[in-house]
Parts: sequence; C-alpha cells; structure tokens
Amino acid sequence: MTIQENIPLAPYTTLQVGGSARYFAEPVNEDETVEALRWVRARRLPLFVLGGGSNLLVSDAGFPGLVLHMTLAGIEALDVDAMRDGMRIYSVGAGVNWDDFAARAVAENCAGVECLSGIPGSVGGTPVQNVGAYGQDVSESITRVRAIDATTLERVEFDREACGFRYRQSRFNGADRGRYILTRVDFALRPDGAPKIAYAELLRHFNGAAPTLEQTREAVLRIRRAKGMVLDENDADSRSAGSFFKNPVVSLAEYERIAAASSVTVPHFEAGAGQVKLAAAWLIEQAGMGKGFALGPVGISSKHTLALINLGGAKAADMLRLKDLVQQRVRQRFSVELHPEPVMLGFGEID
Ligand SMILES: Cc1cc2nc3c(=O)[nH]c(=O)nc-3n(C[C@H](O)[C@H](O)[C@H](O)COP(=O)(O)OP(=O)(O)OC[C@H]3O[C@@H](n4cnc5c(N)ncnc54)[C@H](O)[C@@H]3O)c2cc1C
Repeated sequence: MTIQENIPLAPYTTLQVGGSARYFAEPVNEDETVEALRWVRARRLPLFVLGGGSNLLVSDAGFPGLVLHMTLAGIEALDVDAMRDGMRIYSVGAGVNWDDFAARAVAENCAGVECLSGIPGSVGGTPVQNVGAYGQDVSESITRVRAIDATTLERVEFDREACGFRYRQSRFNGADRGRYILTRVDFALRPDGAPKIAYAELLRHFNGAAPTLEQTREAVLRIRRAKGMVLDENDADSRSAGSFFKNPVVSLAEYERIAAASSVTVPHFEAGAGQVKLAAAWLIEQAGMGKGFALGPVGISSKHTLALINLGGAKAADMLRLKDLVQQRVRQRFSVELHPEPVMLGFGEID
C-alpha cells in the first residue's frame, strides 16, 4: 500500500473546502488497513478515517497526520441459508457508495433502506452517525458492524445493540470516537417487504396509496433533489455537508419557555424522557437568516435552511464565520445552542 504525501482533501469532501493531508493512504482490505495503522503508530502521528467526505469540514490548515481513505469494496447478498426470520443479509464493504447499495437493495426488492436513497457518502460512514431520513435510519437494518480496533489492531464485531445507536449517534461518534475503523457493515433487509411510509412528506406524496419500493425510492430522490439534498455538480445548493446543524433537544421546561415567548406555534417533536426536539431550520429562520442568505463565498442553500453551502472558492474559515453567525443569532433570539452535525477536522476542539 502506498503512503502518499500532501494530498489536497477538498476534492474528497462534498463541501470542497480545506487544506491537505500530510499523509494519505487508501487501504483496499483489512490487512492493508492494519498495515496503515502500524505505519501511523510507529511514527506517533494522528489518524483520521475518511469515507465519502459528506459529513466533514476540513480546516484550511489541513491535517498533519495520516488520512485513511476507506475504499473497501463489495456487496454480498448472503443466500437463503443465511436468512434470519425471512430477512436477507447484505454484507457491504465500508468503501461502497451508500446510494449504490440502497439502489441495489431496492432493485432486488428488499425493504429497509428505501427512504435513505440519495444520501451521499460511504457505507462505512452510515453507522457512525446512525444516518437517517424520511422516517428511517440505518440502526433499523444494521445487524453487525465489523471493524479494526486502532488501539489493539484486532478485528472486532459489534451487533446492533453494541453499536449504541441513538438520534445521529452511536458509540463510533460517542464514547469510542476515533477508536474503530469500520470495514464491513451487515444489513438485514426484508425481501418483498413494504416500504416504510411514515414521514409526513411521504404520506402526503402517496396520499393513502401503497407504493412499491422503487416508487418510494423515486419519490425520496425527487423530494431530496428539490431540497438540493442529492449531490449534483450542476446544483450549487448541493455543495454542502447536508444538514449543518442538528435539531436541538431541550427539556420540556425549556421548550415551554420558548413557546411562551413566541407569538407563533413553535414546531417541536417528542424526544422521550421529558425531552423535546426543536426544528433547527425554524429557529434559524425565526432568527432572521433564511434560505439564500449569503456571506461572501458561503451561504444558506436557496432550497434548505439547514444546508450551509460553498458558493464557489470558499475557505473553511468562511464556513466557520457563517456557522458562528447562525449560532450567535439563534442564541441571541432563543437562548438555544445549535450544534454542528459535520465532523470538524484539523480545527482542534470546535463545536
Ligand atoms: C447533500 C447531502 C445530504 C445529506 N443528507 C443526509 C441525510 O438525509 N441524513 C443523514 O443522516 N446524513 C445526511 N448527510 C450527511 C452524510 O451524507 C452522512 O453523514 C454520511 O453517512 C457520511 O458518510 P461519509 O462516508 O461521507 O463520512 P465522512 O464525511 O467521510 O466522515 C464522517 C465521519 O465518519 C467517520 N467515518 C467514515 N467512514 C468511516 C469508517 N469506515 N470507519 C470509521 N469511521 C468512519 C469519519 O472519521 C468522520 O468522523 C448528507 C450530506 C450531504 C452532503
């Protein structure tokens, strides 16, 4: 495996900003991944695992250690012998493009990931923040995650329970952040299963009809495109990292304080255990920053309030300035803290 030097990272990210990786390697299997880990450990360098770069903001200074770009390939549909409870198990390499897998599952009429069509990035990136959209998330179908422990170099496996999935969270971006390099993910999908039509936009779209998996995928892609949420080089609104801010979860008392001070209804959702999830997009709009807002070479997507975009030629510093401004306006208006969803690389501790 070749270790390359001074590789610009911007082209490996959907935001297309940021500096270079001092060292860069593309392991194609687990042995090469372990080899790269030995290399980085011998030199006491920091390590960063890169998937599709779709949930990532790289600093202008870049990264002084080794960036491991995961390219492990292969989608294996295990045969009937491996079926559990009538489910088909797909074992997928971490480097596979997520939507290639989602498209294949739908083409093979297997239900479980159809609402996640069109999400950019790699399969290995999906368990990290428990990727979700339109009423479905990967924790519903993942049965096993295979990984290499960067501290021991051992191969390890986690079942769904052990992954610690929650809203946009797992052990891989929580307590064990940076420790495991995910190499394969297994998904249990239901052959000839019905699509999950639970999200308001999909319910509205199908209006009581019973769509096929393929029709559901098409509807999701159409809705996502209208929001600039499908990567398209001709759509500047898709030069983003998806939603830049998480929907804040606050206490019921906090929500009641905000609702009492507002002259209009505050959109909110039950988040369990006396917690309420607020809509980050609504908070941002109410704080006076709407779709199409621009700040030099960066802005808010003209189609989606939560997507901060690179209008062309932006630096990471420009993105940070906009992130700070949005957070500051929402803090001033509601005393609520917005937390970024993308991973920040090379900035030190920023949130
Ligand atoms: C236009 C657009 C739309 C989006 N829509 C959605 C959406 O609807 N729902 C949603 O949840 N997200 C969405 N996202 C965010 C993003 O696509 C997902 O978070 C995606 O799963 C990130 O995967 P990635 O491979 O690109 O990860 P990267 O951005 O490369 O990395 C993100 C994090 O995962 C870690 N990581 C990646 N691969 C591995 C691995 N193999 N082993 C260990 N760690 C790894 C990285 O170290 C980093 O910490 C969107 C992004 C864009 C640009």
